[in-house]
Amino acid sequence: MNKPAEATDRFDAVVVGAGFSGLYMLYRLRRLGLSVKVFDSADDVGGTWYWNRYPGARCDIPTTDYTYSFDPELEKEWTWSEKYATQPEILDYLRFVADRYGLRADIEFATSVASAHWDEQERRWSITTDRGTRLRCRYYIMASGCLSMPKSLDIKGTERFAGEVYFTSRWPHEGVDFTGQRVAVIGTGSSGIQAIPLIARQASQLTVFQRTPNFSVPAHNGPAPAGRLTRLAQDRDEYRDAARWSPGGVPVEPTDVLGVTASESVARERFEDAWKAGQLFSILGVFADQGVNPKSNGIVAEMIREKIRSIVHDPRTADALCPTDHYFGTKRPCLDTGYFETYNLPHVRLVDLRRQPITSITEDGIDTADESFGFDAIVYATGFDAMTGAVAAVDVTGRDGLSLTEKWAAGPSTYLGLMTAGFPNFFMITGPGSPSVLSNMAVSIEQHVDWVADCLKDMRTEGFETIEPTPLAESGWDQHVRDCGAITLHPTANSWYMGANVPGKPRVFLPYIGGVAVYRQACDDVVARDYLGFRRTGPGGERCLDGVIRRMQPDVSLVLQLMAKLGLPPMETLSADEARAMMGAAAATRPPSPEVGEVTDGLMPGPAGDLPYRLYRPPSAGPHPVVVYFHGGGWVLGDLDSDDPLCRDLCVRSDTVIVSVNYRHSPEARFPAAADDAFAALRWTASHAAELGGIPGQVAVAGWSAGGNIAAVACQRARDAGGPRVSGQLLISPVTDSDMTRPSYAENGDGYVLTTPLMHWFWDYYADPADRGDPRAAPLRGNLDGLPPACVVTADFDPLRDEGLAYADALEASGAQVRRVRARGHTHTSVTMVGVVISGAPVRAEIAEALRNFFPSAP
Ligand code: FAD
Ligand code: NAP
Repeated sequence: MNKPAEATDRFDAVVVGAGFSGLYMLYRLRRLGLSVKVFDSADDVGGTWYWNRYPGARCDIPTTDYTYSFDPELEKEWTWSEKYATQPEILDYLRFVADRYGLRADIEFATSVASAHWDEQERRWSITTDRGTRLRCRYYIMASGCLSMPKSLDIKGTERFAGEVYFTSRWPHEGVDFTGQRVAVIGTGSSGIQAIPLIARQASQLTVFQRTPNFSVPAHNGPAPAGRLTRLAQDRDEYRDAARWSPGGVPVEPTDVLGVTASESVARERFEDAWKAGQLFSILGVFADQGVNPKSNGIVAEMIREKIRSIVHDPRTADALCPTDHYFGTKRPCLDTGYFETYNLPHVRLVDLRRQPITSITEDGIDTADESFGFDAIVYATGFDAMTGAVAAVDVTGRDGLSLTEKWAAGPSTYLGLMTAGFPNFFMITGPGSPSVLSNMAVSIEQHVDWVADCLKDMRTEGFETIEPTPLAESGWDQHVRDCGAITLHPTANSWYMGANVPGKPRVFLPYIGGVAVYRQACDDVVARDYLGFRRTGPGGERCLDGVIRRMQPDVSLVLQLMAKLGLPPMETLSADEARAMMGAAAATRPPSPEVGEVTDGLMPGPAGDLPYRLYRPPSAGPHPVVVYFHGGGWVLGDLDSDDPLCRDLCVRSDTVIVSVNYRHSPEARFPAAADDAFAALRWTASHAAELGGIPGQVAVAGWSAGGNIAAVACQRARDAGGPRVSGQLLISPVTDSDMTRPSYAENGDGYVLTTPLMHWFWDYYADPADRGDPRAAPLRGNLDGLPPACVVTADFDPLRDEGLAYADALEASGAQVRRVRARGHTHTSVTMVGVVISGAPVRAEIAEALRNFFPSAP
């Protein structure tokens, strides 16, 4: 036994936890030459694998991957016996690791850290334990586990039961023999689903109390998959690197097959292959869009339900076992061995708590609303206070007496899931806001530990003593974590990922779902940018480059990456016709557009011949307000098809008739042809509103980009001409000026689809330099008095952002009502990418609301 820490002891670092994380952290810190003390409340190393000894406990990430990779020698010395190793084998492995590197010498077992207080004077943490130990350290690292704090029992009467009580998360070391016993299991998450088939083998009667049925797929356990072993044997480094740069920490080929467009046979084949593979990342990756698209998700979910119904003989039980209240994958799916088959055994019964809730645990057993059950033993497989439970259980107090639980009262807030502002030198391994539980945790743990160790090394080299995130960097990361979650189906579920399993816990999506590789890149980028968003201090002063590491919406950056991969030529290097053809080809690959009530094409008279238009009518009964819409495309590109998805979306969301007008384009018809057509289209539509199914007098204009430009001009001309009356102008990322010197051009002129060279190309086609100051080309330079209410949409990563804002300012200064909509994290084009860029939907909802508000008296 090593020497217990004493009051006077000072360490460089204190680490809480001696599981996968704590052991590797200790290893790395030692190699930096730091003095370290590790505490664990367990009697031995292992963490999760020390505590969760219930029958059937295994990993559900293949063990070839759920393993340390930091030392090739270690890998040579350990061979896993199965595809999914058992708890005893994984515990043996962690013991082996502890012994191999002599780690136990620095670990104090059976000791819980009770408090950690930051001492600003000393710039050290003051630590106390439940054994009364006090010590000081420079760095306080919680490697305390995402799933280590069992959820408190929240069932009435639990203390009354006179029989044996077990928790899967605190299973007796000597094991339990259920032979001849009447056993109850409460909970059907991964733990329950693993334990139930084995408990059923012993118990004389097994009753499973299920609140929520769970998706589970067969593990098909056995020898490690041959393909994987071969790949590892051929090039271990390459394999491990592929895992580190994969979405989930396991190298799997991502698919680009979409559930919404896949044929039935393709869908079936992909599903059956995944079912046979018996791997979480296979079944979670049947379709590229199953995590974000309800329809696609529904295909996979229904196929799993079919399997359940085909396995379970009793239709009523099968029905109760079929999950229907959450999207597949939004609660952690399970891997099982004979779980559903267990319900075919005559002594096993499922009690559906949705039909008959538990009213109380009694002395003898369990009472539900309908029945009383007698039991010899009750097994609680009721889960954990995940991700924040173990951290919050310690009284962590940072600078100025700030308590972590108070700071996190509305949900955790972190920078990269690694640190939190106000708590210098306090690190978390796999903290909230990192991929952690959504990934192969062995990979995520190593990445976090390496980042922390490298950070401490850098600090020493550069003479810093403290490090802490800035509030700006932290709130930026929190926002990014929320943005990533928001485009998925996850927030819809009552899952532990959302904190929903613990009464009173704030409902926030806790992990980072952007993926292991994307996350690793963000962490690396922070370091490469001189620890962007961290404040570091030392005797020589402080250094802080403040900022936000990821401001772009995650799906927008994905689209940009995909576009970059296509290697298309810059548009400004093409002729107008070539550019039009390229745009048309891209439009042909778009997903289906939203359904509207009716779409009709027609012609309206224009100043130089008829103008084609397309009318979109909403499904509701008319008449409706009418919006004359002008597409984008730099006055050169675009047609009725190009903005069709956006028009449909706006039509349905705003419940208005949209009349999309195809005006004349440059270079065939240069300035002011487009502007003239726009005004003519407005006049014609206003005078034919009733025939179009619209409400006379309720006509607005709208346009995107160059379409926004001519929409704004049309409003000015309608005012000058004394009509028609325009109810409002919706200007989505409009061109309002020909001046390209505003900061947004410098910031966003390259890399975000609409570039500075492309804007030059557009302007050169559209208008002679002498005309570019004309208010019909640059409406910002016109008279803005007496204009209709406006909604001006600007995107963060758009060269046109500042001229849009300038137009909003100028309209307001002239007395117009202006609603500004900021497309946060978007580019010039991304908000219009209906059905592709999911994060654009809330922006379009806001735009549609603004559009609707142009017509307050509409029925
Ligand atoms: P843990 O292993 O949880 O260790 C944390 C340790 O900190 C614990 O021993 C705890 O006693 C100690 N501790 C906490 N607070 C204190 C305190 N205040 N004072 C002293 N000690 C403290 N992940 C996967 O990627 N693949 C899998 O297949 C997989 N299977 C799992 C199966 C089960 C049954 C469970 C519960 C989880 C599983 N996980 C799996 C997640 C698993 O938790 C991680 O993979 C990994 O083991 C976590 O390691 P850790 O060291 O970060 O935390
Ligand atoms: P869990 O997934 O949270 O499941 C807990 C179960 O208990 C749920 O079915 C839950 O129902 C039920 N429950 C909780 N409180 C209840 C109550 N008051 N009354 C009735 N039912 C109640 O917990 P877990 O099974 O321990 O798994 C947690 C996580 O650990 C897993 O998701 C996984 O990440 C990891 N794990 C992995 C493995 C593996 O295979 N490698 C094994 C075990 C655990 P509701 O769903 O209705 O809340």
